[in-house]
Amino acid sequence: MISLQNQIILITGASSGIGTACAKVFAGAGAKLILAARRWERLQQLADALTKEFGTDIHLIQLDVRDRNAVESAISNLPAAWSNIDILINNAGLSRSLDKLHEGDFQDWEEMIDTNIKGLLYLTRYVVPGMVSRGRGHVVNLGSIAGHQAYPGGNVYCGTKAAVKLITEGLKQDLLGTSIRVTSVDPGMVETEFSQVRFHGDTERADKVYQGVTPLTPDDVADVVFFCVTRSPHVNINEVILMPVDQA
Ligand code: NDP
Repeated sequence: MISLQNQIILITGASSGIGTACAKVFAGAGAKLILAARRWERLQQLADALTKEFGTDIHLIQLDVRDRNAVESAISNLPAAWSNIDILINNAGLSRSLDKLHEGDFQDWEEMIDTNIKGLLYLTRYVVPGMVSRGRGHVVNLGSIAGHQAYPGGNVYCGTKAAVKLITEGLKQDLLGTSIRVTSVDPGMVETEFSQVRFHGDTERADKVYQGVTPLTPDDVADVVFFCVTRSPHVNINEVILMPVDQA
């Protein structure tokens, strides 16, 4: 197992759910954190809590990952002390609605494709060259079981997560010979704000999703991410699927 002490870890989507849980587990292991998301107050609250509990060094970035220029500027303008990113956690993502494809909303599609695929690509494109020049690094992409199996109404979201799966595999191939590791962590149902976002804040519909299933917690996923990034340097965990026991 390798130590995360003083490693610089960038987490997108750190303001909620799995991203927040990853921030906590990494802070507990002594890492330095760059936390990115759009909701600034959430990031500040998280940073205050982690600094108080663990004394963590934190750099915050208010960032919409869909905005390529903003991603480029955020990465290229990092203060020198924060510019050598050791680990990138591409976690920002969302699903919108469960509409049938032939009845789907174009704006929902664009939001999913622009966030889950293009946002992940932009971060990767601007962060990985630094890893290559330093000869070390690790990229962890949050995929989903939805990238392996479609479900009714999942159409475009499943497509974005299938893309994440193949993009992760492609990046691994492209980085062969560099020592940089590439992993996809693909959970089943996790209880976060994800369902609220999916149904545009319709709490009743959001809560129904979890009926009959004990979902994963964000901490369950963060544990797996932590496991992947702390293996010996010669070990690459390519892909992990983790599911609630009672989810098909
Ligand atoms: P949450 O809704 O709790 O968190 C999503 C995070 O993504 C938030 O921090 C949000 O921050 C951020 N985000 C969304 N859009 C953008 C954007 N355009 N720019 C920057 N940040 C953005 O959901 P989860 O924690 O559950 O989701 C995290 C990842 O896990 C996603 O990629 C999701 O697809 C995946 N996943 C989730 C599962 C689940 O059942 N929950 C199952 C499998 C995979 P903000 O709004 O502040 O910008």
